[in-house]
Amino acid sequence: MFRLLKQVFISIPIGMFTVFKQLFRKPTTVKYPFVKSKMMPRYRGLHFLERYEDGTERCVCCGLCAASCPADAIYMEPAENERGERYARVYEINELRCIFCGFCQEACPEEAIFLGKEYEFADDERDKFTYSKDDLLVKWPREKPSPIKFLRPRRRVHWEEETGRVDLVEDSQE
Ligand code: SF4
Ligand code: SF4
Repeated sequence: MFRLLKQVFISIPIGMFTVFKQLFRKPTTVKYPFVKSKMMPRYRGLHFLERYEDGTERCVCCGLCAASCPADAIYMEPAENERGERYARVYEINELRCIFCGFCQEACPEEAIFLGKEYEFADDERDKFTYSKDDLLVKWPREKPSPIKFLRPRRRVHWEEETGRVDLVEDSQE
């Protein structure tokens, strides 16, 4: 009897007070997918491959990103274009292997590979998580400005049409 009275007059009011207290607090949840949370500045999501200001690919298929990847998630095959510039004919990232450490981004000397803020890439087949170069390369013309500030605007390689000479040059806008 005493236990029942204690529940009715003490435990239940305490419980109800706890519930009503929450009514006046700011909600900590959002109605996803109708409302999307803004990710933290250091959040690392889906990769993307950047381009130069003229639309050419930045990646020279040097392999440093793959070498630095602890998850062995990056695969690439090189090729050369008609100007003798090296590029990645094949560039793939297996996002299921990736642990989003960001080492590939840190290792890249061409400021080509970045981890963006995209987190909506769940899928129902394992094969769909192998992202090809077409998936990763930013669309051209750009649909929106690059989220990466202070990108070197042009390739550092200078090509002389007449002599066929290729030199590394300083870019004054760096
Ligand atoms: S973020 Fe880390 S694990 Fe993922 S591809 Fe880059 S280096 Fe590999
Ligand atoms: S993304 Fe960068 S590090 Fe990776 S192969 Fe291309 S240029 Fe090299």
